[in-house]
Amino acid sequence: MKCIYCLETKEEKDFLKEEHIIPAAFGGKTVLPSQFVCDDCNFKFGRTIETDLTSNSFISYLRTYVGPGKRGSLTKKNEVRTNIFVFEIDKFPKVLGYIRKSKPIIISQFLIDNNIKNAQFFYNSEFPEHEQLSIFQENLDKIRNYTYIPSLTLNEEIILIGFHEKNFYICAKNKDNLENTINTITTLLQSENKINFAPKEELNLFLKKGLEIKVNLINYYRAHSKIAFNCAAYLLGKDTMYDSQYNNCRNWINGDTKEYEKIILNQNFINNIEKMLLESFPDKSHKVIIFSVSHYLIGLVSFYGAEFPITTLLSKNFEPNNIHDGIICDWKNQKEYLYSEYLRKLAEEEDF
Ligand SMILES: [Zn+2]
Repeated sequence: MKCIYCLETKEEKDFLKEEHIIPAAFGGKTVLPSQFVCDDCNFKFGRTIETDLTSNSFISYLRTYVGPGKRGSLTKKNEVRTNIFVFEIDKFPKVLGYIRKSKPIIISQFLIDNNIKNAQFFYNSEFPEHEQLSIFQENLDKIRNYTYIPSLTLNEEIILIGFHEKNFYICAKNKDNLENTINTITTLLQSENKINFAPKEELNLFLKKGLEIKVNLINYYRAHSKIAFNCAAYLLGKDTMYDSQYNNCRNWINGDTKEYEKIILNQNFINNIEKMLLESFPDKSHKVIIFSVSHYLIGLVSFYGAEFPITTLLSKNFEPNNIHDGIICDWKNQKEYLYSEYLRKLAEEEDF
Protein backbone atom coordinates (compact mmCIF):
# COMPACT_ATOMS: atom_id res chain seq x y z
CA MET A 1 0.00 0.00 0.00
CA LYS A 2 1.30 3.38 -1.01
CA CYS A 3 0.40 6.70 0.61
CA ILE A 4 -0.67 9.52 -1.73
CA TYR A 5 1.32 12.10 0.30
CA CYS A 6 4.66 10.54 1.31
CA LEU A 7 4.55 7.99 -1.57
CA GLU A 8 6.01 5.40 0.78
CA THR A 9 4.92 1.79 0.57
CA LYS A 10 3.76 0.56 3.96
CA GLU A 11 1.80 -2.27 5.53
CA GLU A 12 -1.93 -2.42 6.10
CA LYS A 13 -1.49 -1.72 9.83
CA ASP A 14 0.02 1.67 8.96
CA PHE A 15 -3.23 2.77 7.31
CA LEU A 16 -5.75 2.57 10.13
CA LYS A 17 -6.72 6.19 10.81
CA GLU A 18 -9.66 7.88 9.11
CA GLU A 19 -8.73 10.64 6.70
CA HIS A 20 -11.57 13.15 6.30
CA ILE A 21 -11.69 15.12 3.06
CA ILE A 22 -13.06 18.19 4.87
CA PRO A 23 -11.80 18.16 8.49
CA ALA A 24 -14.28 16.63 10.93
CA ALA A 25 -13.84 19.74 13.07
CA PHE A 26 -15.74 21.68 10.40
CA GLY A 27 -18.43 19.04 10.13
CA GLY A 28 -16.85 17.10 7.24
CA LYS A 29 -18.18 13.55 6.93
CA THR A 30 -16.72 11.85 3.85
CA VAL A 31 -13.53 9.92 4.48
CA LEU A 32 -11.03 8.57 1.98
CA PRO A 33 -10.86 4.79 1.60
CA SER A 34 -8.40 3.39 4.14
CA GLN A 35 -5.40 2.73 1.87
CA PHE A 36 -5.04 6.34 0.68
CA VAL A 37 -3.23 8.20 3.46
CA CYS A 38 -0.82 6.56 5.92
CA ASP A 39 -1.20 7.11 9.66
CA ASP A 40 2.09 9.02 9.89
CA CYS A 41 0.91 11.58 7.32
CA ASN A 42 -2.55 11.71 8.86
CA PHE A 43 -1.01 12.41 12.26
CA LYS A 44 1.51 14.94 10.94
CA PHE A 45 -1.12 16.98 9.07
CA GLY A 46 -3.49 16.79 12.01
CA ARG A 47 -0.88 18.30 14.31
CA THR A 48 0.32 20.99 11.96
CA ILE A 49 -1.65 22.49 9.10
CA GLU A 50 -5.05 21.23 10.23
CA THR A 51 -4.62 22.63 13.73
CA ASP A 52 -3.60 25.94 12.19
CA LEU A 53 -6.74 25.89 10.06
CA THR A 54 -9.21 24.76 12.71
CA SER A 55 -7.83 26.65 15.72
CA ASN A 56 -5.58 29.50 14.61
CA SER A 57 -7.01 31.01 11.46
CA PHE A 58 -9.63 33.47 10.27
CA ILE A 59 -11.87 30.48 9.73
CA SER A 60 -11.40 29.23 13.27
CA TYR A 61 -12.94 32.47 14.52
CA LEU A 62 -15.89 31.94 12.20
CA ARG A 63 -16.19 28.44 13.56
CA THR A 64 -16.58 29.71 17.10
CA TYR A 65 -19.28 32.14 15.98
CA VAL A 66 -21.40 29.69 14.02
CA GLY A 67 -20.20 26.15 14.81
CA PRO A 68 -19.88 23.24 14.68
CA GLY A 69 -18.17 22.02 17.86
CA LYS A 70 -15.55 19.35 18.42
CA ARG A 71 -15.50 16.63 15.75
CA GLY A 72 -18.42 18.35 14.03
CA SER A 73 -20.77 17.97 16.97
CA LEU A 74 -23.68 20.36 17.30
CA THR A 75 -24.35 19.72 20.98
CA LYS A 76 -23.66 22.43 23.52
CA LYS A 77 -21.30 20.27 25.53
CA ASN A 78 -18.83 20.23 22.67
CA GLU A 79 -18.81 23.95 21.97
CA VAL A 80 -15.32 25.01 21.08
CA ARG A 81 -13.38 27.98 22.25
CA THR A 82 -10.59 29.66 20.38
CA ASN A 83 -7.00 29.42 21.45
CA ILE A 84 -5.76 32.03 23.89
CA PHE A 85 -4.89 35.30 22.18
CA VAL A 86 -4.61 39.02 22.89
CA PHE A 87 -7.67 41.25 23.08
CA GLU A 88 -7.72 44.95 22.88
CA ILE A 89 -10.37 46.27 25.21
CA ASP A 90 -11.55 49.55 26.56
CA LYS A 91 -9.56 51.23 29.34
CA PHE A 92 -6.86 48.56 29.42
CA PRO A 93 -3.84 48.17 27.19
CA LYS A 94 -4.40 44.49 26.29
CA VAL A 95 -5.55 41.30 27.99
CA LEU A 96 -5.29 37.60 27.26
CA GLY A 97 -8.46 35.71 26.56
CA TYR A 98 -10.46 33.53 24.24
CA ILE A 99 -13.74 33.63 22.37
CA ARG A 100 -16.51 31.17 23.02
CA LYS A 101 -19.68 31.51 20.99
CA SER A 102 -18.85 35.08 19.94
CA LYS A 103 -18.31 36.13 23.54
CA PRO A 104 -14.86 37.33 24.55
CA ILE A 105 -13.73 35.92 27.89
CA ILE A 106 -10.52 36.94 29.61
CA ILE A 107 -8.46 34.33 31.41
CA SER A 108 -7.19 34.84 34.96
CA GLN A 109 -4.04 36.85 34.61
CA PHE A 110 -1.65 39.43 35.92
CA LEU A 111 -1.05 42.61 34.02
CA ILE A 112 2.38 43.83 35.04
CA ASP A 113 3.44 47.36 34.33
CA ASN A 114 7.19 47.53 34.84
CA ASN A 115 7.10 51.29 34.47
CA ILE A 116 5.09 51.99 37.58
CA LYS A 117 5.92 48.66 39.22
CA ASN A 118 2.30 47.70 39.44
CA ALA A 119 0.47 44.42 38.94
CA GLN A 120 -3.23 43.89 38.50
CA PHE A 121 -5.07 40.61 38.66
CA PHE A 122 -7.99 39.85 36.37
CA TYR A 123 -10.49 37.07 36.91
CA ASN A 124 -12.01 34.74 34.35
CA SER A 125 -15.75 35.40 34.51
CA GLU A 126 -16.53 31.76 33.70
CA PHE A 127 -15.03 30.41 36.92
CA PRO A 128 -15.52 31.09 40.64
CA GLU A 129 -13.59 34.21 41.51
CA HIS A 130 -12.23 33.26 44.90
CA GLU A 131 -10.38 30.18 43.65
CA GLN A 132 -8.51 31.75 40.80
CA LEU A 133 -5.67 33.48 42.55
CA SER A 134 -4.91 30.43 44.68
CA ILE A 135 -4.96 28.16 41.60
CA PHE A 136 -2.53 30.57 39.99
CA GLN A 137 -0.28 30.39 43.06
CA GLU A 138 -0.50 26.63 43.42
CA ASN A 139 0.72 26.14 39.87
CA LEU A 140 3.59 28.60 39.97
CA ASP A 141 6.15 25.81 39.65
CA LYS A 142 4.93 25.29 36.06
CA ILE A 143 5.33 28.93 35.05
CA ARG A 144 8.55 28.34 33.11
CA ASN A 145 6.72 26.04 30.70
CA TYR A 146 4.67 28.99 29.49
CA THR A 147 3.40 29.53 25.97
CA TYR A 148 4.78 32.77 24.59
CA ILE A 149 2.28 35.01 22.78
CA PRO A 150 4.03 37.84 20.97
CA SER A 151 2.25 41.15 20.58
CA LEU A 152 3.75 43.78 18.33
CA THR A 153 1.47 46.48 19.59
CA LEU A 154 1.85 45.91 23.32
CA ASN A 155 3.67 48.60 25.25
CA GLU A 156 7.22 47.45 26.03
CA GLU A 157 6.73 47.87 29.76
CA ILE A 158 3.57 45.76 29.91
CA ILE A 159 3.66 42.01 30.40
CA LEU A 160 0.65 39.73 30.71
CA ILE A 161 0.93 36.46 32.59
CA GLY A 162 -2.16 34.29 32.30
CA PHE A 163 -3.12 30.87 33.56
CA HIS A 164 -5.83 28.75 32.00
CA GLU A 165 -6.55 25.03 31.99
CA LYS A 166 -3.18 24.03 33.46
CA ASN A 167 -1.13 26.24 31.16
CA PHE A 168 0.66 29.52 31.59
CA TYR A 169 0.64 32.14 28.84
CA ILE A 170 2.95 35.09 28.70
CA CYS A 171 2.34 37.95 26.34
CA ALA A 172 4.98 40.60 25.77
CA LYS A 173 6.38 42.65 22.96
CA ASN A 174 9.52 40.54 22.97
CA LYS A 175 11.00 37.65 24.87
CA ASP A 176 13.84 39.55 26.55
CA ASN A 177 13.70 40.04 30.30
CA LEU A 178 10.79 37.69 30.79
CA GLU A 179 12.86 35.95 33.43
CA ASN A 180 12.88 39.14 35.51
CA THR A 181 9.14 39.42 35.25
CA ILE A 182 8.65 35.79 36.25
CA ASN A 183 10.77 36.47 39.32
CA THR A 184 8.76 39.59 40.07
CA ILE A 185 5.47 37.74 39.93
CA THR A 186 6.82 34.89 42.06
CA THR A 187 7.97 37.34 44.73
CA LEU A 188 4.72 39.24 44.51
CA LEU A 189 2.64 36.14 45.10
CA GLN A 190 4.53 35.47 48.30
CA SER A 191 3.26 38.78 49.67
CA GLU A 192 -0.35 38.91 48.58
CA ASN A 193 -1.12 42.33 50.00
CA LYS A 194 0.69 44.11 47.17
CA ILE A 195 -1.71 42.75 44.59
CA ASN A 196 -4.09 45.19 43.07
CA PHE A 197 -7.36 43.50 42.10
CA ALA A 198 -9.21 44.83 39.11
CA PRO A 199 -12.61 46.17 40.17
CA LYS A 200 -15.33 43.69 39.36
CA GLU A 201 -17.50 45.95 37.23
CA GLU A 202 -14.62 46.56 34.88
CA LEU A 203 -14.52 42.89 34.06
CA ASN A 204 -17.57 43.25 31.87
CA LEU A 205 -15.41 44.51 29.11
CA PHE A 206 -16.17 44.60 25.49
CA LEU A 207 -14.01 44.16 22.48
CA LYS A 208 -12.67 47.00 20.45
CA LYS A 209 -12.51 46.59 16.69
CA GLY A 210 -9.26 44.75 16.25
CA LEU A 211 -8.33 41.35 17.49
CA GLU A 212 -4.68 40.49 17.28
CA ILE A 213 -4.79 37.13 15.59
CA LYS A 214 -1.64 35.25 14.85
CA VAL A 215 -2.23 33.41 11.63
CA ASN A 216 0.24 31.18 9.85
CA LEU A 217 -0.77 32.09 6.32
CA ILE A 218 1.38 29.41 4.68
CA ASN A 219 -0.24 26.66 6.74
CA TYR A 220 -3.64 28.22 6.16
CA TYR A 221 -3.14 27.85 2.40
CA ARG A 222 -1.53 24.43 2.70
CA ALA A 223 -4.50 23.12 4.66
CA HIS A 224 -6.84 24.30 1.89
CA SER A 225 -4.66 22.66 -0.76
CA LYS A 226 -4.68 19.39 1.16
CA ILE A 227 -8.47 19.37 1.24
CA ALA A 228 -8.50 19.88 -2.54
CA PHE A 229 -5.89 17.12 -3.00
CA ASN A 230 -7.91 14.74 -0.82
CA CYS A 231 -11.01 15.49 -2.84
CA ALA A 232 -9.20 14.93 -6.15
CA ALA A 233 -7.94 11.57 -4.82
CA TYR A 234 -11.46 10.68 -3.81
CA LEU A 235 -12.85 11.48 -7.27
CA LEU A 236 -9.97 10.22 -9.43
CA GLY A 237 -8.75 7.27 -7.34
CA LYS A 238 -5.45 6.91 -5.52
CA ASP A 239 -3.49 5.32 -8.37
CA THR A 240 -3.89 8.49 -10.41
CA MET A 241 -2.48 10.60 -7.59
CA TYR A 242 0.93 8.86 -7.52
CA ASP A 243 1.71 10.47 -10.88
CA SER A 244 4.50 13.04 -10.99
CA GLN A 245 2.13 15.68 -12.40
CA TYR A 246 0.93 16.11 -8.80
CA ASN A 247 4.40 16.41 -7.27
CA ASN A 248 4.53 20.21 -7.10
CA CYS A 249 1.28 20.31 -5.22
CA ARG A 250 2.20 17.29 -3.09
CA ASN A 251 5.57 18.83 -2.09
CA TRP A 252 3.84 22.05 -1.16
CA ILE A 253 1.33 20.23 1.05
CA ASN A 254 4.11 18.17 2.65
CA GLY A 255 5.88 21.41 3.57
CA ASP A 256 8.89 20.94 1.29
CA THR A 257 8.34 24.34 -0.26
CA LYS A 258 6.83 27.59 0.94
CA GLU A 259 6.39 29.14 -2.47
CA TYR A 260 2.65 29.23 -2.50
CA GLU A 261 2.50 31.60 -5.48
CA LYS A 262 3.08 28.61 -7.79
CA ILE A 263 0.25 26.59 -6.28
CA ILE A 264 -2.30 29.03 -4.87
CA LEU A 265 -3.81 30.75 -7.86
CA ASN A 266 -4.77 34.35 -8.11
CA GLN A 267 -8.50 34.92 -8.21
CA ASN A 268 -8.36 36.65 -11.61
CA PHE A 269 -7.15 33.44 -13.16
CA ILE A 270 -10.53 31.82 -13.08
CA ASN A 271 -13.45 34.11 -13.52
CA ASN A 272 -15.77 31.34 -14.52
CA ILE A 273 -15.60 29.80 -11.06
CA GLU A 274 -17.80 32.56 -9.74
CA LYS A 275 -20.73 31.06 -11.56
CA MET A 276 -20.42 27.74 -9.86
CA LEU A 277 -20.32 29.37 -6.47
CA LEU A 278 -23.52 31.25 -7.21
CA GLU A 279 -25.59 28.07 -7.23
CA SER A 280 -28.03 27.93 -4.35
CA PHE A 281 -26.09 25.93 -1.82
CA PRO A 282 -27.18 25.22 1.75
CA ASP A 283 -26.64 28.15 4.12
CA LYS A 284 -22.98 28.62 5.14
CA SER A 285 -22.01 25.31 3.56
CA HIS A 286 -18.40 24.35 2.81
CA LYS A 287 -17.47 23.53 -0.77
CA VAL A 288 -14.66 21.66 -2.45
CA ILE A 289 -14.85 21.68 -6.23
CA ILE A 290 -12.40 19.99 -8.58
CA PHE A 291 -12.42 20.91 -12.25
CA SER A 292 -10.14 21.07 -15.25
CA VAL A 293 -9.36 23.97 -17.56
CA SER A 294 -7.33 22.74 -20.55
CA HIS A 295 -4.37 20.95 -18.89
CA TYR A 296 -4.83 22.49 -15.47
CA LEU A 297 -6.54 20.60 -12.70
CA ILE A 298 -7.85 23.05 -10.14
CA GLY A 299 -9.34 22.66 -6.69
CA LEU A 300 -11.51 25.29 -5.01
CA VAL A 301 -12.11 25.25 -1.29
CA SER A 302 -14.49 27.63 0.41
CA PHE A 303 -15.74 27.57 4.01
CA TYR A 304 -18.96 28.95 5.48
CA GLY A 305 -20.33 30.06 2.14
CA ALA A 306 -17.43 32.44 1.46
CA GLU A 307 -17.65 33.87 -2.03
CA PHE A 308 -13.92 33.77 -2.60
CA PRO A 309 -12.50 30.28 -2.48
CA ILE A 310 -8.83 29.41 -2.02
CA THR A 311 -7.76 28.02 -5.37
CA THR A 312 -5.13 25.30 -5.66
CA LEU A 313 -3.34 24.27 -8.84
CA LEU A 314 -3.28 20.49 -8.45
CA SER A 315 -1.69 19.68 -11.80
CA LYS A 316 -0.45 21.49 -14.88
CA ASN A 317 -0.44 18.38 -17.05
CA PHE A 318 -3.87 17.00 -16.51
CA GLU A 319 -5.35 15.02 -19.38
CA PRO A 320 -8.69 16.66 -20.05
CA ASN A 321 -11.54 14.38 -19.16
CA ASN A 322 -13.99 17.05 -18.14
CA ILE A 323 -13.96 16.49 -14.46
CA HIS A 324 -16.28 18.82 -12.63
CA ASP A 325 -17.29 17.51 -9.26
CA GLY A 326 -16.63 17.89 -5.58
CA ILE A 327 -18.14 17.89 -2.15
CA ILE A 328 -20.75 20.14 -0.57
CA CYS A 329 -20.78 19.98 3.21
CA ASP A 330 -24.07 21.07 4.74
CA TRP A 331 -22.70 20.83 8.27
CA LYS A 332 -25.72 22.52 9.82
CA ASN A 333 -27.89 19.58 8.80
CA GLN A 334 -25.02 17.10 9.19
CA LYS A 335 -25.19 16.18 5.50
CA GLU A 336 -22.59 15.95 2.80
CA TYR A 337 -23.19 15.58 -0.93
CA LEU A 338 -21.22 15.01 -4.06
CA TYR A 339 -21.40 18.27 -5.99
CA SER A 340 -22.89 16.50 -9.03
CA GLU A 341 -25.44 14.74 -6.85
CA TYR A 342 -26.37 18.03 -5.22
CA LEU A 343 -26.91 19.76 -8.58
CA ARG A 344 -29.08 16.85 -9.71
CA LYS A 345 -31.13 17.19 -6.56
CA LEU A 346 -31.52 20.93 -7.15
CA ALA A 347 -32.68 20.35 -10.72
CA GLU A 348 -35.21 17.75 -9.59
CA GLU A 349 -36.64 20.12 -7.00
CA GLU A 350 -37.06 22.79 -9.67
CA ASP A 351 -39.04 20.35 -11.83
CA PHE A 352 -41.72 20.00 -9.23
ZN1 LIG B 1 2.20 8.98 4.12
